[in-house]
Amino acid sequence: MSATPNRAPPRIIALANQKGGVGKTTTAINLGTALATKRRVLLIDMDPQGNASTGLGISRQDRGAGSYALLTGERPLRDLLRPTKIPNLTLLPADPELAGAEIELVGLENRERRLRDALTTQADALAGTEIILIDCPPSLGLLTLNALVAATSVLVPLQTEFFALEGVSQITRTVERVKRALNPALELEGIVLTMFDKRNNLSELVAADVRAFFGAKVYATVIPRNVRISEAPSHGLPVILYDHRSAGAQAYIDLASELLKRERRARKSAA
Ligand code: ADP
Ligand code: MG
Repeated sequence: MSATPNRAPPRIIALANQKGGVGKTTTAINLGTALATKRRVLLIDMDPQGNASTGLGISRQDRGAGSYALLTGERPLRDLLRPTKIPNLTLLPADPELAGAEIELVGLENRERRLRDALTTQADALAGTEIILIDCPPSLGLLTLNALVAATSVLVPLQTEFFALEGVSQITRTVERVKRALNPALELEGIVLTMFDKRNNLSELVAADVRAFFGAKVYATVIPRNVRISEAPSHGLPVILYDHRSAGAQAYIDLASELLKRERRARKSAA
């Protein structure tokens, strides 16, 4: 399964939602794993909790330097990239120092552009990378802002629950503001409904509401609530490797296909 050679700059997709526990990290890990069968993927862990790094089998002790060292300019990107068990999926881990970054970044020059600047000036270290996924922390602070400024698009995981639409306006407004002030090219990649519960009528109602509001931006694929998804991280594995046949794994494989199908369609209409 060789990845297609590609000289164009990578697409950079930030997974963002200021709410915690909505499935950002789970989506980053599993969408990344599914995409890596077709593309060369880099996952950047921008959450001080480092759950994306642990979920990919890199424990806190051996995480070493990562996104913090990149943001502060302490280390070059080339030295920070780590292979994972998944072919074509590279990780820029969250170093334990990242927790201090929200505060330390305030005093640095170009504080909201540090990730973008690092990725553009060190593009040689990314040669061949086609898609970069950025797992954001559950806040709209400087780490998420750096991700949104570096990104070409934002993917919003939305937990299928009663207040789903109320929470989402905060992130969509932030995206609009970043687009106006700092990153005019930023687009809304899409919205993915997570933790969908088939046995609960409420899930259907919420999904219908979200689709009525955001239309085609909402992926047809929904991620079901699935116990295998929640078990996988403690084994340091994406659910796609932990239990390939589970409903959760299949949903993330479908989500990756849908994302790539949208990409092909967008390219065709641009040509
Ligand atoms: P976030 O990164 O937005 O804070 P996570 O991806 O870490 O959210 O998910 C929060 C918790 O919910 C984790 O324990 C994760 O394993 C679990 N989880 C996420 N998605 C699902 C799902 N579809 N089914 C069951 N558990 C899930
Ligand atoms: Mg997370």
